Amino acid sequence: MGLIENTISPSLVEVEKGTKILSPNIVITSMDKLINWGRSSSLWPVTFGLACCGIEMMTTGSSHYDLDRMGVIFRGSPRQADLMIVAGTVTKKMAEIVRRIYDQMPEPRYVVSLGSCACSGGIFNTYSTVQGCDSFLPVDVYIPGCPPRPEALLEGIIKLQEKIKGEHFRWSRWR
Ligand code: SF4
Repeated sequence: MGLIENTISPSLVEVEKGTKILSPNIVITSMDKLINWGRSSSLWPVTFGLACCGIEMMTTGSSHYDLDRMGVIFRGSPRQADLMIVAGTVTKKMAEIVRRIYDQMPEPRYVVSLGSCACSGGIFNTYSTVQGCDSFLPVDVYIPGCPPRPEALLEGIIKLQEKIKGEHFRWSRWR
């Protein structure tokens, strides 16, 4: 360790706090930064939409908004996903199914609540509608709006990435 420090210290470039690069092929950083960089740069949402907000989610995945450039790639199976975007109205009948899909996702896993219906029930203050998906899911990011525009979903995902970058990999949320 002492040899490495003595050899590379004079030409270290600090690219951000706690991460240093010695060109071209030596990087010094912490395990937290490395693992969080991987997790935040490859969020894979499980594909499903519950109502009109699902259309905005699909639009955000189109070539115009290009979620792929952020490492966000939709998956057809919860077994391959680490992000759930709850997009639309959650009825009481559907809530149990949504929770089951969430339980099938590997950990660590994250939840984005997209739209006023998912966040709080929205305009559907009725006997059949869940008044906020946080009553049965641990929501990480709330995106209000009826519906929120694709730009709002992009911002929400950036907020989630920032949140992941602040995690300690050994604390990962086993919940
Ligand atoms: S928030 Fe508005 S657009 Fe989204 S699911 Fe509810 S009614 Fe539809």
